[in-house]
Amino acid sequence: MNPSAEIVNIFQEENNFLILTHSAPDGDAIGSSLALKFFLEKMNKKAEFFAEIPIPLQYRFLPGINSIKDIKEISLDNFNVLILIDCNKIERVSKKKEILEKIKHFSGKKIVIDHHIPDEKDNNGLIKWIEPKKAVTGILIYDLIKYMNGVISEEVAFNLYTAIIVDTGNFQFDNTTDEVFQVATELVKAGAKPSYIYQQCFNSWEENRLRLFIRMLNNLEILDSLAISYLSKSDFQDTNTTESATETFVEFLRVLKDINLTVLLREIESDFIKVSLRSKGNIDVRVIAREFGGGGHENAAGYRIKGSLKYAKDELIEKLKKYNLL
Ligand code: 5GP
Ligand code: MN
Repeated sequence: MNPSAEIVNIFQEENNFLILTHSAPDGDAIGSSLALKFFLEKMNKKAEFFAEIPIPLQYRFLPGINSIKDIKEISLDNFNVLILIDCNKIERVSKKKEILEKIKHFSGKKIVIDHHIPDEKDNNGLIKWIEPKKAVTGILIYDLIKYMNGVISEEVAFNLYTAIIVDTGNFQFDNTTDEVFQVATELVKAGAKPSYIYQQCFNSWEENRLRLFIRMLNNLEILDSLAISYLSKSDFQDTNTTESATETFVEFLRVLKDINLTVLLREIESDFIKVSLRSKGNIDVRVIAREFGGGGHENAAGYRIKGSLKYAKDELIEKLKKYNLL
């Protein structure tokens, strides 16, 4: 599907764009946002991208990374259009109420470019371009640039290629379609360097990240076809790491034969747990995440829950049983 005439028109007519993405941004969120920023600037538009700082270490190589502004310092002045990338509601942009309050006051046009299934009830004035069948939001940005006869510059290619390999697990998840390869091919032709980008994204851990990973392995429990682990606040403190160090951890657990459901619980703050769910094949973990007010995709979903690690685990196990997943 192409972007709607309404969206294309906004990109053509307006001049000041505010780009935002979800909290704890991943490679798709950051790469897609930066690629869009480069594209808009090429059209002589003003575009700023505000996100949670610090950006995870593995993305610091991305062209444009130093232009990202801290979401804590966001100001809505002078922007006519707000663009939400890789998420479809304002509430996902930040965990901080004061930041959300500020953003909610934005009175200009609001566009969503995303590949997550939206909550049906949520439709507050957003102009949505959402394609859940697309593996990566970066592919929508690629489609937009092509549709508007833009050029895929080397900076754009690096950013979008990163978006693709992060959301497809370097072309191995179920979402890896022929389209993914086609777009990746075009990005490589435009200058993206697959080996270099892979090394940066996946083989660039600091030692403390590996120490945290070892903690996750030590905390692992296997219940039938479920592999579940957790990281407590002290695991993060002892290894001097934060939540962003856990990207790809839950996916690693899928390495186990006969395991088709993996879960990682993380104690982000005392009594505040972030849960990541991954599955193989046609097991839908999004329905579980939605039970707790979260969301995501069929094979990759997440949510947050108040309470202790034990409480979060017990609640989850109850829901998995309800859906005959355990
Ligand atoms: P992750 O487990 O890597 O944080 O997220 C996996 C997928 O679930 C991503 O597509 C992410 O956007 C989505 N997701 C994670 N947490 C939440 C949440 O709290 N709410 C919603 N709506 N989606 C989430
Ligand atoms: Mn994504």
